[in-house]
Amino acid sequence: MSIAENLRSVRSRIETAARKGGREPADVTIVAVTKTVAPEQIREAVASGITCLGENRVQEARDKIAAIGRVAQWDFIGHLQTNKAALAATLFDRVHSVDSERVAWALDRAARKQGRRLPVLVQVNLSGEESKFGVEAGAALDLLRSIAGLANLAVEGLMTIPPYVDNPDKTRALYRGLRELRDEADALALAGVAMTHLSMGMSHDYPVAVEEGATLVRIGTAIFGQRP
Ligand SMILES: *Cc1c(COP(=O)(O)O)cnc(C)c1O
Repeated sequence: MSIAENLRSVRSRIETAARKGGREPADVTIVAVTKTVAPEQIREAVASGITCLGENRVQEARDKIAAIGRVAQWDFIGHLQTNKAALAATLFDRVHSVDSERVAWALDRAARKQGRRLPVLVQVNLSGEESKFGVEAGAALDLLRSIAGLANLAVEGLMTIPPYVDNPDKTRALYRGLRELRDEADALALAGVAMTHLSMGMSHDYPVAVEEGATLVRIGTAIFGQRP
């Protein structure tokens, strides 16, 4: 199947899932995950209407952005080390993976030097020890409170990567948990924070994530095919 055909099928499943969840399909944006994907295929996805591209390695993204240019918005979705934060802040339009004060400060400092306000999401680890990255759910609101005041970050919501499980009901519970945490955070009405986005759902489970409220679905394989 071509990338255009894959995208047609992904869009149609998003539409069905959104309606099932009582939501507008237009409120869901596909972040096409381009790790290991060649520039030609990325251009094809953009030609088929993709407006947002996701990369999980800063270095790889730097080369790719240099090759392809800013044909779409670039989102960083991988684990961010503090020493890569400054570079990430120059390359990316949004960072999904803030999981500590240190990394938030580093991004804020870098964004200030560029005279911009960088959109970020807070990555939450909802599954306990099974996943290495993300702030624990119980500490997420404290992290939000502490970074809300950073003038050069625009906190826009939450992101999670669930462990791979075959049982979609287990994943659904995690996605619902992220939505509930988002609602709790929203109720705090922190100045400078707009809890608009839920970045959740990948190729194998994005319909469930959309039913549960995802606004950003990070999809690689279902668009570009199996990675090597
Ligand atoms: C690779 C990756 C994805 C996409 O995974 P697929 O299963 O190929 O859709 C989503 N999110 C993150 C953080 C990733 O690293």
